[in-house]
Amino acid sequence: MAAPLTTAGYVAGVTAGDPAVLARAITLVESRRPEHRRLAQEVLTELLPRSGGAHRVGITGVPGVGKSTFIDQLGINLTAAGRRVAVLAVDPTSSRTGGSILGDKTRMERLATDPRAFIRPSPAGETLGGVAGATRETIVLCEAAGFDVVLVETVGVGQSETVVADMVDFFLVLMLAGAGDDLQGIKKGVLELADLIAVNKADGDNRTRAERAAADYRLALHMMTPATPTWTPPVLTCSGLADEGLDKVWEQVELHRRKLEHTGELDARRRAQQVRWMWSMLDARLHDDLRETPHLADELPRLEADVRAGATTPTAAADAVWDLYRRHRRA
Ligand code: GDP
Repeated sequence: MAAPLTTAGYVAGVTAGDPAVLARAITLVESRRPEHRRLAQEVLTELLPRSGGAHRVGITGVPGVGKSTFIDQLGINLTAAGRRVAVLAVDPTSSRTGGSILGDKTRMERLATDPRAFIRPSPAGETLGGVAGATRETIVLCEAAGFDVVLVETVGVGQSETVVADMVDFFLVLMLAGAGDDLQGIKKGVLELADLIAVNKADGDNRTRAERAAADYRLALHMMTPATPTWTPPVLTCSGLADEGLDKVWEQVELHRRKLEHTGELDARRRAQQVRWMWSMLDARLHDDLRETPHLADELPRLEADVRAGATTPTAAADAVWDLYRRHRRA
């Protein structure tokens, strides 16, 4: 085992772009042990002024949509253009969804051996908040290590898209020309988060179907009010496997950045994300504190059972919990 590192050791190694130290720093921010948390926060505080330099892009899509193939190809295109690319993943479901492990190096074979790239699988964790927090801190570390593109991969299930969209500058949604070529089963929520929709696997026999699906998505997006007048999310087709259309997708990512930088919205978006992150951490901490409060921990199952049985209202139970909690706090 490698010798323990001090704060200064982590900071020096990360800023020098040493991949082994970066990997250890990420393991540190993923740890829940109190002494690790303390050290991690010291390291992050030192590195914060060196962060912020990367273009942060979230990529989502259902299992099998072609995320890893797409990221592998996009990644090597970017490194060939001189960029340094970090790939992170957010997957709270024990890092496995639909049989694939997000951010697994074997799924991105070319990028995994590319010296200008760094791939890190999703941190393990029972809570999405915990996984997301570690990933946000990992973004800071990667930026301090000099990566200028950070791709955050997540699966199009559950709430993980929302939390990833809230830690990136641009949110890319990969879609398939679906069975039946209609928009049924497409969650409206994901359309609202998308800065761009790319209908993937637009190759071979699938090209025409992909174009038709893209037209449908354009129509669906047209019915929605864009989050900002500065940007109307485009719909493109592409093929990660054939490396077709990826350049057009990336052009839009760059264009979006230029436009939102110009209006100041990019900076505002990042600042608002930081504040929401602070509150989500406080929410989680209060929640933990409440559940761990002695006496209250015994009362909670009883109150829950009463609510479940309809013996008390949720509001009355919440009031009772809150009173007990406040009394304990004052004691
Ligand atoms: P993920 O689960 O979203 O990461 O999807 P993968 O990248 O692992 O791809 C799932 C399957 O679709 C694999 O068999 C890929 O070879 C295939 N695939 C991925 N991208 C494309 C594409 O652009 N075109 C075609 N035809 N197949 C693709």
